[in-house]
Amino acid sequence: MTTNAELLELCHHLGEPSLELAIAAEGNASYRVDSDAMAIKASGSSLLTMQDEDIVEVRLSTLLALLDAEPTDDQVHAAYQSSKIDPDARKPSVEAILHAILYATTHASVIAHTHPVAINAIGCSTHPELLVSGSLFPDAIVMLGSAQLLIPYTDPGVPLARAVEKGVRTFQQENGFDPSVIYLANHGVFVLAQSTTQAMQTTLMAVKNAEVLLRSLVNGGPAFLSDEQVRRIDTRPDELYRRSILSTE
Ligand SMILES: [Zn+2]
Repeated sequence: MTTNAELLELCHHLGEPSLELAIAAEGNASYRVDSDAMAIKASGSSLLTMQDEDIVEVRLSTLLALLDAEPTDDQVHAAYQSSKIDPDARKPSVEAILHAILYATTHASVIAHTHPVAINAIGCSTHPELLVSGSLFPDAIVMLGSAQLLIPYTDPGVPLARAVEKGVRTFQQENGFDPSVIYLANHGVFVLAQSTTQAMQTTLMAVKNAEVLLRSLVNGGPAFLSDEQVRRIDTRPDELYRRSILSTE
């Protein structure tokens, strides 16, 4: 299982200024502790400088109960406070409910959420759908999967968590697997992984993919691989091997 030390290492890497993934208190990351608990970055802390005390363990069921009603802001605040396994711990990230719904609906063990400049350059444009319009190169397929999910802009908090849940369930029905990458238009990206290493590598590949996409737009536009080419890469034994190595490191 993932450890707090591994989560801290991931957060410090995600917060590295030169990567342009997050500044100030932007972004967060978490790992699944057990079927009803996750450890997540505290609200207001910085990815780059966070310490052990900035990791909060919370009960998923307490947060998920918010989705059954139309909670007020005060009720959301109260649920966030009561979800803490250690009552004296800091308040969990405001986006904790998104992590909770993703652990409840997928097999993710680690989740990383950032606001990368390159991804938002497309996600905040008039054509955010370009992010999920096709695969550009083999390594993107290996690390991001043959399909990714895009959620239109939604009010943060409970409404966004509901939109993500609906989007993930539809994606699973259409593709038969969990999304590894969920783009949020006008917001950022969620990466679902099996290890902190995979979460970092997948985030970096999603950013690289966005940068390649952006630059292709000044040279006639993206040349997406055909469905057959994507399927071939997606099922090649050597590529499956590379993917399995990444998920266990
Ligand atoms: Zn965010």
